[in-house]
Amino acid sequence: MEKLVSLSKRRGFVFQSSEIYGGLNGCWDYGPLGVELLRNIKEQWWQAMTYREDVEGLDAAILMHPTVWQASGHVENFTDPMVDCRECKARFRADQIEDALCGSPAYKGRKASKCQAEGKFTEARQFNLMFKTFVGPVEDAGAVVYLRPETAQGIFVNFLNVQAASRQKIPFGIAQIGKAFRNEINTKNFLFRTREFEQMEMQFFVKPGTDVEWFTYWKAERMAWFESLGMQKDRLQFHQHEPDKLAHYAKDAYDIEYKFPFGWGEIEGIHNRTDFDLSRHEQFSGKSMKYFEEQGKEKFTPFIIETSAGASRSFMAFLVDAYREEEAPTADGKMETRVVMRFHPRLAPLKAAVFPLVNRDGMPEIAKKIEADLRPHMRVFYDDSGAVGRRYRRQDEIGTPFCITVDSQTLADQTVTVRERDSMRQERLAIQALLPYLRERL
Ligand code: ATP
Repeated sequence: MEKLVSLSKRRGFVFQSSEIYGGLNGCWDYGPLGVELLRNIKEQWWQAMTYREDVEGLDAAILMHPTVWQASGHVENFTDPMVDCRECKARFRADQIEDALCGSPAYKGRKASKCQAEGKFTEARQFNLMFKTFVGPVEDAGAVVYLRPETAQGIFVNFLNVQAASRQKIPFGIAQIGKAFRNEINTKNFLFRTREFEQMEMQFFVKPGTDVEWFTYWKAERMAWFESLGMQKDRLQFHQHEPDKLAHYAKDAYDIEYKFPFGWGEIEGIHNRTDFDLSRHEQFSGKSMKYFEEQGKEKFTPFIIETSAGASRSFMAFLVDAYREEEAPTADGKMETRVVMRFHPRLAPLKAAVFPLVNRDGMPEIAKKIEADLRPHMRVFYDDSGAVGRRYRRQDEIGTPFCITVDSQTLADQTVTVRERDSMRQERLAIQALLPYLRERL
């Protein structure tokens, strides 16, 4: 993890938020390469989920009517038990003390459970994870709104709007990507648990009685999505929630877990939410949330199958999964360790790099022209500094799938070498053939 965090900063994947002010706990900024990777993940998700006839897209507001969060159960239930240390003032999740360390610099590395055994901790209190703010100029109770802790509710309250506007028939789904906020007590493990993060959620509305079948379908689809983007199968697993650990709304729930360096962690949840959400919104709003099925002339409250992935957590899983240290030969035949990010080509932040072998004999001009011709089609990078072997390594480290080199032979026959990141194999190709070649492989 340390290597990955430092590579992320050095190469511009992820920076600490407000770093020059000492950072803000649980918040991170995506740098030039990070933003590309994150956008590519979201784009792949969007394509997989909405380029089909039975799912529509939505982008709901982050701020919602406060009653939404009463209906959803978040005001009452979205809490973690919390204890404070009277001595060092550190705050812990009461159910995670086993893994926590004392907050006092004087006791560096000391287990928090020891402090607890010495009676330094307060009683556990319930702490609501929603961030509160106010709308309008008066900061009173009547003006309280919340930053959404999940994107799902924006979908539920718009269920009938989307259905009517798109003329979809059940079963169908609504997909949304957006920011969510949780005032997590302990943020840790880089992007794994942050206070501001992005979710990619899809809610699929089905007829009661068909929910188990659709749950099975979406479980398989979502696992296949991670695998289709190259995630290593032996680092992915399902984890079923025990019946007594299910959320208050759920009939069945599986997490897709990834094996991070610190252990298995959830990256996506697939839940059978029954008719809980729509029934609650019907109850709290006084508006019918029922669906009328023409065919059987039947009115019912749909069940919902939810697929809820963290974009930021998936980002971190893809980053961890791509990282390799390999033995590779240098130009003079010695062996060295190369760091290579084996991103799936569709996720790679940069798709190709173009190098002139040397900065003379007209090579830079040809390389610049290749760069300019590729630029409208993909993210490319031009690099003419240092030995070509070092330039390859710099691209390996950020996962660029192809490096194109202009050399002396190019001057004679208009061909270039194309080097593939993982195999390091080089091919000679006519400049003319570059674009179709890259397109096919990306
Ligand atoms: P956890 O138990 O890890 O807090 P959760 O079960 O509360 O997660 P869900 O409410 O099911 O998570 O949220 C769906 C997805 O949103 C998670 O699988 C995860 O990828 C992402 N997510 C949730 N909380 C965070 C967070 N604090 N930081 C980053 N991603 C998050």
